[in-house]
Parts: sequence; C-alpha cells; structure tokens
Amino acid sequence: MRPLILMKVGGSLITDKDNPEPTVNFKNLRRIVREVAEGYSPERMRLIFAHGAGSYGHQIVKRTGIHKGIKSGEQILAFAETQRLQNELNSIVTKELIKNGVPAMPIQCSCHTVMEKGELVEMHLETVRGYLEVGLVPVFFGVPAFDRFQKCSILSADKILAHIAREFRAEKVIHATDVDGVFDANPKEVEDAKLVKEMTSENFDEIIEKVGHSSSVDVTGGMFGKVREILASGVPTEIINGNREGYIKSALLGETGLGTRIIP
Ligand code: ADP
Repeated sequence: MRPLILMKVGGSLITDKDNPEPTVNFKNLRRIVREVAEGYSPERMRLIFAHGAGSYGHQIVKRTGIHKGIKSGEQILAFAETQRLQNELNSIVTKELIKNGVPAMPIQCSCHTVMEKGELVEMHLETVRGYLEVGLVPVFFGVPAFDRFQKCSILSADKILAHIAREFRAEKVIHATDVDGVFDANPKEVEDAKLVKEMTSENFDEIIEKVGHSSSVDVTGGMFGKVREILASGVPTEIINGNREGYIKSALLGETGLGTRIIP
C-alpha cells in the first residue's frame, strides 16, 4: 500500500495569529497550498492534511473560556460560534486546495469525537479510512469538542494528528510552523536560541524542559503542546519552518533534516 503521510500547517502560517480579529494570511496560504499541490502525488502516497486555527480560534476561546468547560448560556453560544469560525477557515483552506487540484475532504472532528477533561478518548475513523481508499485527502482542523466531564474542551489539530498518526501507523508526520523547529529556548524571545536537529530518548528530558508555549495568543500549548503530542503518538515526526519557501514541498517529496526530527 502507498505510504501514508500526515502534514499539518500551523495557524501561525495561514492566519495572522496575533490579530484580535479572525484574519487569513492569503499570501502564505496560497503559496503553501501550491507547495502541497506540487509535493502531493496520489500515485506515490496517501495524504492526510490538517491545519491550525490561529486567529480564528485562540482569541475567541481565550476570551470566552470555553476550553475550561461550559458554565453559562453565553458560553454555549460561544461554543457554537467557535465551531462556525473553524468551518469558515477550513472552507477557505479546502477551497484553495481544490483549486490547486488536491481533493480536500473536510473532517469536522467534533461530530465524531468524545473528550474527557481535555483528552481525546473516542474518535470514529471508519469514514476517514474510506475517504483515503476513495482517493480523497482528508483535511482535519482543531475544533471545540464535546467533553463528558466539562461539556466542552479544545481538540487541537496537533492532538488530532498525533491520534491519527498512531491509529493509522503513519509513515511520516510533518508539522509546518513559523520557526525552524524545536530550539533550546523560545527563538522568538531568546536571540541566540539554538536549533535542536534531533530529539530522541537520549535528549528528551533535557530539551522538553526548555520548550515553552506560543509567543502569540494560544490555548493549545504552542511548541510545548506540539512536542508533547508528538511524543505521545510514538511516530517519527519532522517539525519544519513553513515560512521558508520550498520546505513544505521538499518535505512532502521525502527530504529530511529540514528542521527538527523527533523520534519518540
Ligand atoms: P502553530 O500555530 O504553527 O501550530 P504555535 O504558535 O502553536 O505554532 O507554536 C510555535 C511557537 O512556539 C513558536 O512560534 C514559538 O513562539 C513557540 N516556542 C516556545 N518555545 C519554543 C522552543 N523551545 N522552540 C521553538 N518554538 C518555541
């Protein structure tokens, strides 16, 4: 069977993550989608794509507190509006993918996933397997999801990707974000932070202590959340800088060593 590749593009790349209003970075989105279309080949691979929420998600969630559970009527409306915003961004992303010839199929995880205190406990995946067989490219995105204990928690695209990687035994996982990989300090805040080329069981404990959250508004843990989910997935993953032109395409074509390689 053709190898399964998982690629996630961070909200930091496709939106203006610091903008208080939901704002798409169309210049970046269109270039990234072109690179995905050029790197994707249905003969060579099966592809699952995912994208983060950026300014379509983190601001409203932080403002309304729905990630900590639903306690008021106002929050019920915010729960619904947060999902609607994710669908709006996903519709923009999938429209660009389809325009470029990638058969993008939106997968709204809040319809078939159950959370418990912020942890994913059940996800129905038979349809996703079917879509892959049909030749579609399932497109996942972070969502506010039903939580058995607190009514709502946030199911981030990073968490979804880790789950899918594990369940589907993905060949390769690529995370594109707005920095070159995992550094020994937040590179947005520490000028001489050094890139860690490889994380293995040898240096995990030492590095993870130095990984922080996002420099932007972020309710899903920034780089720390990403690395934590990757470690839980057990699947080798590359974190690359999607702001560097050509990197997303090269990674899809099989190039390694473009950023940080994490081997759980
Ligand atoms: P995305 O929106 O692309 O998923 P995030 O904003 O969630 O990305 O995470 C990436 C951010 O994590 C970086 O922009 C950086 O500000 C922050 N970060 C914190 N600590 C580190 C670190 N040690 N190495 C790299 N990035 C870090």
